[in-house]
Amino acid sequence: MLTVQNIETHYGASQALFGISMHVRNGEVVTLIGRNGMGKTTSINSIMGITPITRGSIFFENVRIEHLESFKINRKGIALVPEGRQVFPNLTVRENLVAISANRNNHTSPWNLNKILDLFPQLSARIDSMANLLSGGEQQMLAIGRSLMTNPKLLLLDEATEGLAPLVRNEIWRCLNKLKKEGISMLVVDKNIKDLARIADVHYVIEKGQIVWQGNSSELLKQKDFLGDKLGV
Ligand code: ATP
Repeated sequence: MLTVQNIETHYGASQALFGISMHVRNGEVVTLIGRNGMGKTTSINSIMGITPITRGSIFFENVRIEHLESFKINRKGIALVPEGRQVFPNLTVRENLVAISANRNNHTSPWNLNKILDLFPQLSARIDSMANLLSGGEQQMLAIGRSLMTNPKLLLLDEATEGLAPLVRNEIWRCLNKLKKEGISMLVVDKNIKDLARIADVHYVIEKGQIVWQGNSSELLKQKDFLGDKLGV
């Protein structure tokens, strides 16, 4: 579904990615793990066209997308749940959800307001509240719900459980599991290795802008001590 080939990304003269290659297959959950500042957000933003790559190529469903603007990449079926949630603060929950609703890929059972509220019942009680009045966990649910309203095939999640209480974090993992069962592919950046190992199929470890390890969940758990320094856990 997604093939990232040898990409490099710069911020001005400063190089952040040094030849990253990754694959996400249909229906898979893939993780990108690493310490702070190693290039996880830059990788996600490079796929999404936010920090355009300077070298390499990115294919989505066999079509090159690395030259496209973000909104066009979204229209092809990739949606981003950004680090820090970034919900529209002065819109209500309902407005956040309906504002970017679209079903451009003609899903037979598209995401709509009711489906999002079924996935996150907590949002029902807050449907007419301004987004900036929500708790961190509710804002995260809203950010995921908002991305789903574009009916993506691939969801990119950047630190979706960061700063959340354990109970709320579990709620987010429960929801991601449910999305996996619905067949949505995901590329997840997170620091909770045990939770990731439960839900994900393949893991990539990034260090200083390069992939230094890749493997499945049982390999990751076996190698956790060896990889401890690179994982930052
Ligand atoms: P974190 O977990 O802290 O978000 P990360 O793994 O997502 O870390 P990135 O944010 O992708 O890492 O940063 C990778 C490198 O690029 C770091 O050296 C960082 O300082 C640099 N960088 C990130 N954003 C910018 C920017 N806007 N301008 C210049 N350098 C940047």
